[in-house]
Amino acid sequence: HDEEIACIGCGVKVQTEDPKALGYTPKSALEKESIICQRCFKLKHYNEVQDVSLTDDDFLKILNQVGQTDSLIVKIVDIFDFNGSWLPGLHRFVGSNDVLLIGNKVDLLPKSVKHNRLIHWMKESSRELGLNPVDVLLVSAEKGKQIQEAASAIEHYRNGKDVYVVGCTNVGKSTFINRLIKQVSGEDDVITTSHFPGTTLDIIEIPLDDEKALIDTPGIINHHQMAHYVDKRDLKYITPKKEIKPKIYQLNEEQTLFFGGLARLDYVSGGRRSFTCHLSNELNIHRTKLEKADELYKNHAGELLTPPRREGMADFPELVAHEFSIKEEKIDIVFSGLGWVTVNEPGARVVAHVPKGVNVILRKSLI
Ligand code: GDP
Repeated sequence: HDEEIACIGCGVKVQTEDPKALGYTPKSALEKESIICQRCFKLKHYNEVQDVSLTDDDFLKILNQVGQTDSLIVKIVDIFDFNGSWLPGLHRFVGSNDVLLIGNKVDLLPKSVKHNRLIHWMKESSRELGLNPVDVLLVSAEKGKQIQEAASAIEHYRNGKDVYVVGCTNVGKSTFINRLIKQVSGEDDVITTSHFPGTTLDIIEIPLDDEKALIDTPGIINHHQMAHYVDKRDLKYITPKKEIKPKIYQLNEEQTLFFGGLARLDYVSGGRRSFTCHLSNELNIHRTKLEKADELYKNHAGELLTPPRREGMADFPELVAHEFSIKEEKIDIVFSGLGWVTVNEPGARVVAHVPKGVNVILRKSLI
């Protein structure tokens, strides 16, 4: 009787189905006498935090409470999924608190990308989305790049206050916090937990040296993220594991590129020209004639054009067309959660197709 069992650590209802959701416990652990959820287990034995996903409702409650504190808010986004990993309501909740924006996964950027341009773009986009961060930093939580700089910036901007770390799932928030713990303390048993009032959920506190704390809040699932539309086994096609190697395609007018079956770029007009794709090295790019593209997708999405997998096609959102006229030099067509395609010369008309709900925009090239 799964439903009857509560974790002895945090009291949450134990479940064995979804490793990313609250209360997950491996089936094998159910045989034990006192049952502890995986999140508490890792916390207790390894001093490691693990992100769990929340319902939208609980998440709003937490944001609301964070907004009522006098603190520094550190918001983590995935630089390959800036719009998809944005927390849309956050700016309404932060009140007068400062927000420090941290872009994670910088290790994936090709060398040609200028970090200051990315930072500039993140600042501008934040403002357009209603948030005015005190600063923007880039880190690689996984490779441990710029972690000391992030720790110093947090120390600087918190000004003696508590720190709340927020971000949606999959941005690398746990990886980042686990790095910080090592950086800040190097000790064991630094983490304590306490309750978020009004929710069943514990929050994790890392004590800072002045009786203040760094507090990890649970991540929310952003349902319109590309990552939620593919099978977990196929995430490598979306979130690259290694530095991206740009791939250049010379296209004639009326040619189409498919990015697996996840997105599509139609080159409508503007003469023969090159398109530089910055996508996971593992993602299959398929070129075809524009006139054949619809039919190819209809007949081969889920097989030749994959991911998604065939069995996932029923739940995969329809592709929606977004038309762009490129009027400036060096423009990126950004497919949120996938990467981007750079167009060097002005004068191209393109149509970008992405799953309904996924964001696609133009920006000044980062190169
Ligand atoms: P959370 O859900 O926000 O807590 O995210 P996780 O810390 O579990 O990380 C989500 C995924 O992103 C995992 O597959 C990580 O390996 C990966 N990841 C996290 N940080 C980085 C990073 O700096 N670079 C790269 N390439 N991948 C990262």
